[in-house]
Amino acid sequence: ELPKPLPGAFRGEKMFLVFAGTAGSGKSSLVATLSKWMKEEVGLRLSVINLDPGAEVLPYEPNFDIRKFFTIRDIMRRYGLGPNGAFLKAAELLGEYERKIVRDPAFTGFYDYVLIDTPGQLEMFMFRPEGTKFLKRLEMMKPVLLIYIVDGSLAKSPEDLMTSYLLSLILQSKVELQVVTVINKIDLLSDQELDVVRMLIENPEEFAKMVADKVGGIAGDMLLDLAQVAEKYSPSERALAVSAKTGEGMKELYDLIHEVYCSCGDLT
Ligand code: GDP
Ligand code: MG
Repeated sequence: ELPKPLPGAFRGEKMFLVFAGTAGSGKSSLVATLSKWMKEEVGLRLSVINLDPGAEVLPYEPNFDIRKFFTIRDIMRRYGLGPNGAFLKAAELLGEYERKIVRDPAFTGFYDYVLIDTPGQLEMFMFRPEGTKFLKRLEMMKPVLLIYIVDGSLAKSPEDLMTSYLLSLILQSKVELQVVTVINKIDLLSDQELDVVRMLIENPEEFAKMVADKVGGIAGDMLLDLAQVAEKYSPSERALAVSAKTGEGMKELYDLIHEVYCSCGDLT
């Protein structure tokens, strides 16, 4: 039985869901699948935002699209830049347009959740001061939950899966955010690889031990220490496996989001 929102109880409370993750991890796909699920199955009022100026096609219809202000293609042409330079310029522009962007009704309107898709390249939004500033501005408006997406197809290489999983810690160390970690693309995994993913979610320290044995030396020791930090600051109860392609895990993901939403609601 789904936790239906009580009529009126949380209306207008609103929470920002920011989807972050490395390029190609499935941010846009998950925004599309989860928003459709939340609308159809729970009947929530949602706003969907695209902040990726480099997006060519989107798998959803955004209520707000950064591309109405600038696109990577335009920036490359106008400033004579290559794609990397254009992404840096785009981060600057995001900072310049920030006030305008967050005043848009897609951000300020009467919604249960505002889902925010971020640029394909994690570094443009998350590892630039403009991105951090943007998140802080959102936090001043309403609670923010970061949905950090790990590309589950990395299960073929546990050390890469582990490091991608740990990246969310760096984001958390800059902006104090609640985080849910999602391992995506589980439809692509064999049973054995799925076990690897489950182990990372259910017992990150055990997982780290396995990887540390494989990696060895100081790098292995570091992974063990980092796994403890991960367990402390993004506990494994806040992690789960999904497929944006098949929709598997959407209910579980929504349950986690709803749990955070309710605890935020209690505070205000
Ligand atoms: P983004 O760069 O993080 O926004 O990633 P996208 O959502 O654009 O997805 C990158 C690629 O991965 C696309 O080709 C998607 O179709 C694919 N993809 C995303 N999620 C899944 C998934 O759950 N399963 C599979 N098999 N492919 C996926
Ligand atoms: Mg995308």
